Amino acid sequence: MGRLEGRRAIVTGAGSGIGRASAALFAREGASVLAVDRSRESVEETVAQIAAAGGSAIAMAADAGLESDVQAYVARAMDAFGGIDVLFANAGISGGDVSLFEQSVELWQEVLRVNLIGPFLAVRHAAPPMIAQGRGAIVCTASAAGLRANAGGTPYSASKAGVISLVQTAANSLAGTGVRINAICPGLIETGMTRPVFDMARARGTEDRIGQLNPMERYGLPEEIAAAALFLASDEASYVNGQAIAVDGGLSST
Ligand code: NAD
Repeated sequence: MGRLEGRRAIVTGAGSGIGRASAALFAREGASVLAVDRSRESVEETVAQIAAAGGSAIAMAADAGLESDVQAYVARAMDAFGGIDVLFANAGISGGDVSLFEQSVELWQEVLRVNLIGPFLAVRHAAPPMIAQGRGAIVCTASAAGLRANAGGTPYSASKAGVISLVQTAANSLAGTGVRINAICPGLIETGMTRPVFDMARARGTEDRIGQLNPMERYGLPEEIAAAALFLASDEASYVNGQAIAVDGGLSST
């Protein structure tokens, strides 16, 4: 039996990278998945891949940082599945590598809107049906950059530190409801978001150096984050709550 057999899951940012790998893994483990992404084409491709593997998933295009869209994807999950057991608030943007004095207010607002307000809205709207059924697991994607900031990526690092804080405070607000909430803090993972870094290194022939600063001397794969998300979403993590778990090869402990 799958580790999410019969569970009903929402995964945001499911059109690429970590979200796509997680939606596929959740479906493989028995969940019905509502795969959400702002890119309709990408999320439909994710759902086609899940269906081809024999899994159950629905695609929905939505902006995870817009309250009306969050309400719409929660309503869609309720209509399609009759409830929500797992929410993986994973959608995020990098905001680019812009030096402090070049960063605009608009850049800060957009990064915070998608990366921090998005997970807040997801919790605000998906937690009530979980509370009503007395059970649920919420996982948010933060970042190793939320534990220790990246130079240049100020709004990104601040947004991810905010996600860790959101998870800690929400765990307290959800006390006694049967709903758990945790964050994952990935290190450098090869995905659409980090593709420019990898493309540049490949063009320069320095790909081998990308992972060198990591204690494991390599970068991570989306499937390695999906495995952590599955653990936190499943009953195996029944006593894990309010945590920010680094899945970064040990980077944050160096
Ligand atoms: P990705 O770019 O491959 O995937 C992100 C997906 O989110 C894309 O399909 C994109 O269309 C979608 N998305 C972006 N903004 C959205 C919005 N407003 N509404 C709905 N969907 C939206 O990147 P990824 O690396 O898989 O990123 C997933 C999460 O992991 C992000 O929160 C990111 O910050 C985090 N993260 C990534 C890394 C890494 O090294 N790749 C490291 C730490 C944390």
